[in-house]
Amino acid sequence: MSEAFSNDPETTAALQRRDAAHHIHPFTDTGALNAEGSRVIVGGDGCWITDSDGNRLLDGMSGLWCVQIGHGRREIADAVHRQMSDLSYYNTFFKTTHKPAIDLAEKLARIAPSHLNHVFFTGSGSESNDTVIRMVRTYWDLKGKPEKKTIISRWNAYHGSTIGGASLGGMRAMHGQGGLPIPGIAFVPQPYWFGEGGELDPDAFGVWAARELAHAIEAHGPEKIAAFIAEPIQGAGGVIIPPETYWPEIKQICDRYDILLVVDEVITGFGRLGKWFGSEVFGLKPDLMPIAKGLSSGYLPIGGVMVSDRVADTFIEEGGEFFHGFTYSGHPACCAAALENLRILEEEGVVERAADIAPYLAERWLALGDHPLVGEARIKGLMGALELVPAKPSRSIRFDNEGEVGTMCRDFSLRNGLVMRAVRDSMIIAPPLVITREEVDELATRARKTLDDTLDKLQ
Ligand code: PLP
Repeated sequence: MSEAFSNDPETTAALQRRDAAHHIHPFTDTGALNAEGSRVIVGGDGCWITDSDGNRLLDGMSGLWCVQIGHGRREIADAVHRQMSDLSYYNTFFKTTHKPAIDLAEKLARIAPSHLNHVFFTGSGSESNDTVIRMVRTYWDLKGKPEKKTIISRWNAYHGSTIGGASLGGMRAMHGQGGLPIPGIAFVPQPYWFGEGGELDPDAFGVWAARELAHAIEAHGPEKIAAFIAEPIQGAGGVIIPPETYWPEIKQICDRYDILLVVDEVITGFGRLGKWFGSEVFGLKPDLMPIAKGLSSGYLPIGGVMVSDRVADTFIEEGGEFFHGFTYSGHPACCAAALENLRILEEEGVVERAADIAPYLAERWLALGDHPLVGEARIKGLMGALELVPAKPSRSIRFDNEGEVGTMCRDFSLRNGLVMRAVRDSMIIAPPLVITREEVDELATRARKTLDDTLDKLQ
């Protein structure tokens, strides 16, 4: 019998060897990883994960910003099992449908802001944003304005890894691989006051960053601009919380130039900011709203685009066939997982619990701002960042070799039993929405120890 089929638990080293032999990881230097060996995760329970050496880690990132209800909820496995026993797969193309897709679409229409009453299902956030590009452009074609094709996004935004998603995103390293972005995408500055605010105060900088959108529209020609896409708070870019002046100004600009507003809620949807959607937190009325992650708490892959009445009515009344779809659009098992997840979120009041715990998490997180390494601690809802700097309080002096200190700090954090993510030289958290007060205390204690370890190493 080969090692792979033995019943004996494999050692971590053996698993790492097999991983290195055949597995190319996302967003990873595979050569470097193979030399070091992956951390092998074997279990998850609530806010905790367990690795193959038996270490328990507090999952400060909810996996990848997605496990809203925590790990290991049996009810979801049962719901998926029931669905797969009845109908494991059927598609939603060519005039067919099934009950899980019907139920989920109806439920999403009820939960989402009142003008969003339709959904197009996808398998991920990236597919949702590819769908956005096609929907936006088709919408303006149907409106008799086919020249309106250009979508404006922001530098350092993240909208996924497909060609479309990575083009909409503003990550220069991603653009550098594979000749992106595709034509018809333009970029404006992000509202990142700590990193790019210069001498302006946050409010003045927020207005400045928003008005860059108007300048870009004028520069390209308003008749060519189809939409503006943005995350309410940039997640993967480093939990960039815009100054309060930013979104009101952006809304006015979108209205003035009659361009669609696409609010990417792949991270901020389903309670991350203490309300069901970030759009509610910032008073936004998206024309299209990509969703994924928290829709199923990551238990199975499913995403979608919530479509406003304005856009849906145009497609339904004037559109004819929309030549777009995925084999797994509205996959019945994934819909069942999402439905059960939404039931848990609603019946257990998880979004309200997130709103309740947020002030305590903020208190403990912002207190880390007194650490000598931390130039800024910021948090909104259950998304936070610590900016690590070498010469506090200066915002402009940063570490040489950007990312090196962040990575070192991330590694200390894992050793201290806390999953934090490093984005450049900032440390990021986005814990499950079910985190308790005691777990917040654990998170804060482990984060401070991690900062101390990092500082010791630097001295
Ligand atoms: N949009 C945002 C805001 C994201 O953060 C992500 C993933 O992190 C995506 C889109 C892409 O989602 P997926 O990884 O499911 O394709």
